[in-house]
Amino acid sequence: MVPPCDHECVGVVIPDAGDTYWLLDRGKPPPGWAGVGDHLDDHGGPEAAARAKTLEELSITVVSLIPAFEDWLPNWCRRRHQPRKLGHHWHLFIAEWRGQPTPEPEEARGLRRFHRRQLQVLAERTAAYAIGDVTPPQFAADPGLELPWAYWAHRLGLVDLPRDVLSRIIDRSALPPDVLSLNSRTPS
Ligand SMILES: [Zn+2]
Repeated sequence: MVPPCDHECVGVVIPDAGDTYWLLDRGKPPPGWAGVGDHLDDHGGPEAAARAKTLEELSITVVSLIPAFEDWLPNWCRRRHQPRKLGHHWHLFIAEWRGQPTPEPEEARGLRRFHRRQLQVLAERTAAYAIGDVTPPQFAADPGLELPWAYWAHRLGLVDLPRDVLSRIIDRSALPPDVLSLNSRTPS
């Protein structure tokens, strides 16, 4: 059984040679390409959770973790959460690792390595989604970065997005994707 939301998350950036980065498309809401990440749960701390999730999602072993930053994001998740509380305290890491990234069939619809230039293209698609230029069904079919990950990629200096767009991305990250779908079908 899935535990309730603990409002604590880890996110792990998985860099590779040639300024490339491994991202997952989990194929479930919220849509988008994302780094390794999940709730802290009972892993015993952010570093332990980051190691466990990286092994679980990509089948690779973390050699070391470089803490990047911690921040609160009001992002929606699939889990049941406390009343009047929505969002997560995120612990972001950059991993040094060994192994061959392999998607766990239960965990991912896709696993790909993107060059930094492609991250910018994905982030701009997320920006278009956050602003409303790309509809939720369009975004789900051909996603950019997952909303929180567009923000983290900017914070990490991997992509560059305007400040007003970032605040739209943060606002939208708080909404359930199905609500966005319903809104998009409402005649204007
Ligand atoms: Zn949660």
